[in-house]
Amino acid sequence: MEDYKQLLFSKSYINGEWVSGSSKTFEVLNPADGSVIKKLSDGDGQTISLAIEAAHTAFKPWSKKSAKERAVIMQKWFALMIANRESIAKIMTMESGKPIHESRGEVDYGASFIQWFAEEGKRLYGDIIPGYTADRRIMVIKQPIGVVGAITPWNFPLAMITRKVGPALAAGCTVVVRPSEETPLTALAIAHLAEKAGFPKGVFNVVTGMNASAMGKVLCESPLVAKISFTGSTRVGQILSAQCVSTLKKLSLELGGNAPFIVFEDADIEAAVKGAIAGKFRFSGQTCVCVNRILVHENIYEDFTARFVKAVSAFKPGNGLDETVNIGPLINSKAISRVEAFVEDAVSKGGKVLIGGKKMNEQFFLPTVIGEANQTMNFAKEEIFGPVAPIFKFSTDEEAITLANDTIYGLASYFYTNDLKRSWKISEALEYGIVGINEGLISSEVAPFGGIKHSGSGREGSKYGIEDYIEIKYICIGNI
Ligand code: ADP
Repeated sequence: MEDYKQLLFSKSYINGEWVSGSSKTFEVLNPADGSVIKKLSDGDGQTISLAIEAAHTAFKPWSKKSAKERAVIMQKWFALMIANRESIAKIMTMESGKPIHESRGEVDYGASFIQWFAEEGKRLYGDIIPGYTADRRIMVIKQPIGVVGAITPWNFPLAMITRKVGPALAAGCTVVVRPSEETPLTALAIAHLAEKAGFPKGVFNVVTGMNASAMGKVLCESPLVAKISFTGSTRVGQILSAQCVSTLKKLSLELGGNAPFIVFEDADIEAAVKGAIAGKFRFSGQTCVCVNRILVHENIYEDFTARFVKAVSAFKPGNGLDETVNIGPLINSKAISRVEAFVEDAVSKGGKVLIGGKKMNEQFFLPTVIGEANQTMNFAKEEIFGPVAPIFKFSTDEEAITLANDTIYGLASYFYTNDLKRSWKISEALEYGIVGINEGLISSEVAPFGGIKHSGSGREGSKYGIEDYIEIKYICIGNI
């Protein structure tokens, strides 16, 4: 295990070298106190081009290796991440504000995609299809798509990278990662570990820099890049989609969400409170599967709300490096203002602040519950991305479903019931890519993660996750 300071890097990692981009630098700040963690060299469109060329050159030899050979290197990378869990978690907490126990969890979760896909790469089976004439034979083989551009957000500085590069590398693709300018340090730490694991030069590249739109444009428009995989906002997903038109690039998009959490009358209320707390306040509500709207049956509304507010009162906000802290800061001051605006809007439309409701200081927003929420409030339609839990009331299953589906998003949804029939009916009726029944935490490397509607396309994790990185080739042999 290396000390966390040995895992702090300040340049982009391109073609197996640490490369300064332009002569400019940018600062990575600790959101808990605004202090500077490190100054990094500022990469730009040209730096991305260098990485694309390196990945392009590395593609053929990497794709020609057997899946087993690739898996050996990936398994080493996985083992190095786990061996350095504590140092990576510390860096992650410093740059994202995530409580340290959540960061440790993310190292395990993020690394698991490398281990899982190292094995899945060996199972990219083709097909033999019965011929349509007596003298023909038909085969299908699967081949890597090519160079992949991965653009990732700050809320999972490790896992959003590994969920993309795990399947890509296993399938035989090479990658250029452009991590968020808020959290590039975790990405660079794992680049160092990738080098130690033995990836050939140019297979895995990380380019850091402030100018996201210039870098994204080069990735999208390069004829050498075959595919873009993006996690972030729906707004940026739309920009990237438009930029990919000229090269008809394939795209996987994991975008925003507006997760409903429905508590039916027959639910185990204590379990529902626990699930709602976990699903809402993980990383201070800053994940795309975080609960956005809690919908509670009118007959248990008072009981659920009282218990939920009590559970929220137990949170301890603070610097994530403190082992006893379970709510960290928001990522930046813009995020604080956004969350404040949601609360102000709700209060002006009849919402009741049951706990919290304001910022603690310039970095932290208090865990908040808003009662009497209604459909006119902004968070009914928009993603909160902060520690604010609005509670809505409903009276019938039909009403709950209508409310739950009344959004452009379709990523995660949750409901609590002990009724088997209801479980089936509601699961089928929810217009979402993911449904959690009696469970508030649903992410795993073995399950397909992804959304419908404005939440994007493609799936990450599971046996399905590798399909986004392969092409299917049909081979016909005639005149046999
Ligand atoms: P979030 O709200 O999670 O920050 P964004 O969509 O703004 O979501 O950011 C997700 C990632 O996309 C970040 O790495 C960000 O720097 C990057 N990004 C933002 N704008 C663009 C753009 N125009 N082109 C490419 N990447 C972008």
